[in-house]
Amino acid sequence: MKTYAKIENDIVINVSIADDNWNPADWIDCTNQSVGIGYTYLPLEGIFMPTKCHAEAVLNVKAAKWDCTNTEHDIKEIHA
Ligand SMILES: [Zn+2]
Repeated sequence: MKTYAKIENDIVINVSIADDNWNPADWIDCTNQSVGIGYTYLPLEGIFMPTKCHAEAVLNVKAAKWDCTNTEHDIKEIHA
């Protein structure tokens, strides 16, 4: 069995598990990758990025991560 992702505008819109001999033209083999609906697909790198955490997050393709300035990512100080 293999896992396939259907991509529209570089966003995963569907994920399906199918037999090895299924050869869909418009689905991408994503077996052994963590993929869910809403993930961003990077066609040049052939990798899938998780759904971005906040609206202001910017995709850092080289590092394969989201660069996000949202203060929710700031380390919270613990007050005794
Ligand atoms: Zn964020």
